[in-house]
Amino acid sequence: MQLKIYNSLTGEKEIFKPILEGNIGMYVCGPTVYSNVHLGNVRTFLSFDFIYRSLTHLGYKVRYVRNITDAGHLTDDGDVNNDRFVKQTRLEKLEPMEIVQKYTVDFHKVLDMFNLLPPNIEPTATGHIVEQIELTQKLIETGFAYESNGSVYFDVLEYNARGLNYGELSKRNIEELFANTRDLDGQGEKKNPQDFALWKKASPAHIMRWNSPWGEGFPGWHLECTAMSTKYLGETFDIHGGGMDLKFPHHECEIAQGKACNGASPVNYWMHANMLTMNSQRMSKSTGNYILPMQLVSGENDFFEKSFHPAIVRFCFLQAHYRSVLDISNDAMLASEKGFSRLMEALKILNSITPNDEKQSGFNLKDWKTKAYDALTDDFNSPVLIAHLFEAVKFIFALKDEKETISTQDLEDLKSTINAFVFDVLGLQNIEENNNEKLDQTLQVLIELRNQARKSKNFDLSDQIRDKLLAEGIELKDGREGTTYSIS
Ligand code: AMP
Ligand code: ZN
Repeated sequence: MQLKIYNSLTGEKEIFKPILEGNIGMYVCGPTVYSNVHLGNVRTFLSFDFIYRSLTHLGYKVRYVRNITDAGHLTDDGDVNNDRFVKQTRLEKLEPMEIVQKYTVDFHKVLDMFNLLPPNIEPTATGHIVEQIELTQKLIETGFAYESNGSVYFDVLEYNARGLNYGELSKRNIEELFANTRDLDGQGEKKNPQDFALWKKASPAHIMRWNSPWGEGFPGWHLECTAMSTKYLGETFDIHGGGMDLKFPHHECEIAQGKACNGASPVNYWMHANMLTMNSQRMSKSTGNYILPMQLVSGENDFFEKSFHPAIVRFCFLQAHYRSVLDISNDAMLASEKGFSRLMEALKILNSITPNDEKQSGFNLKDWKTKAYDALTDDFNSPVLIAHLFEAVKFIFALKDEKETISTQDLEDLKSTINAFVFDVLGLQNIEENNNEKLDQTLQVLIELRNQARKSKNFDLSDQIRDKLLAEGIELKDGREGTTYSIS
């Protein structure tokens, strides 16, 4: 089986060859933890979670690194002041790390809710200041960067003068870039408007600041990803991912920094996930066109007519290819809910199918598996994979209606394959099973409380628990092995 990946750098689908046979180093740009992640952010992280799960399922040993951007942007008069939490802490002293912690916890909770697997390493920018200072020094020494008024900038013209090509990822021409840019940030400090900051001098209002050979300051955003990816994955690694909007300038600058520092392109396959839109407009905090994940899941919003379980949101996202724009809407969510229920019902039915080794089945399992894996290995084509899953769903319903048959061996194969695709690769969760599990846990708590009441001779309470549960159709039975229950 050959895995093909669309490489944003070459603009082509390429046959994937890892640097080290069977192993993959993958870096994905993480969140900026100064506010809550919106549903658009979730889509990008979910796309890479699906890619990570797919690579693992295909047998690769993946080291997945996703950073936390926690350094840099926070100023005393900055954009987070409207947050009530911040205002309160400011009465005493604003601790940037409290904000970082608050939104990092929120980020993890949200991703957990959508069943994203944690990366193998989750480094923070503030934990890698030393590495960033070292990289900056190296770039100054090799003539790719210069100091100006306590800040350090990458010299884009010098980079191009040495035969390198700033703009190779975003396909931008440096002359055009120069013509179209006016330097607002760091005006007068830069040799050229396209030069980008490796280190920024901290203004008096800037809260996060570190000592450096150039005075107090903080690292430029692009540098953190070069520092952390090099440290954990090496000077050249296999896959680098992020949202489409990070191609320029962020990833373009990462390539320039990597090439200038190490003389080699830092990444073999650049992967970019497309945007989530709402009302056909990109979801974004700055335009106000966004919804928080919890608002969709709780139903507390003006856009969707009901609440949706996170597993359904996940299913909806995966019905679009990661490189396609996805417009989230009430209708799209309702359709996903319907499809999801049918898929889960089919999986349940599959457990009660009796095989038949006498009759020939009309379903070619081997062909079906090949098609499904072809979709997965064709640049992680989740919508085509899901379409194949629904062919199997149709067959399962035909088995139920006894219009089709399946052999013992094929039944086992179909069960393990479809379960692996649905739960391991797509990362969906069975809502019903989860609810059953919760109910069981709750009933065990009530049984334990009833036992304690009986031990302390509080028979009024123990009888009440039994009778009230019975009224709800749950009968408790006391036996030698303890108390069990049955639900009518
Ligand atoms: P940020 O915290 O702003 O750096 O964003 C985190 C990630 O979310 C980045 O990879 C962005 O490209 C991505 N992102 C931002 N807006 C959207 C959107 N509307 N749809 C999909 N991904 C997005
Ligand atoms: Zn990054």
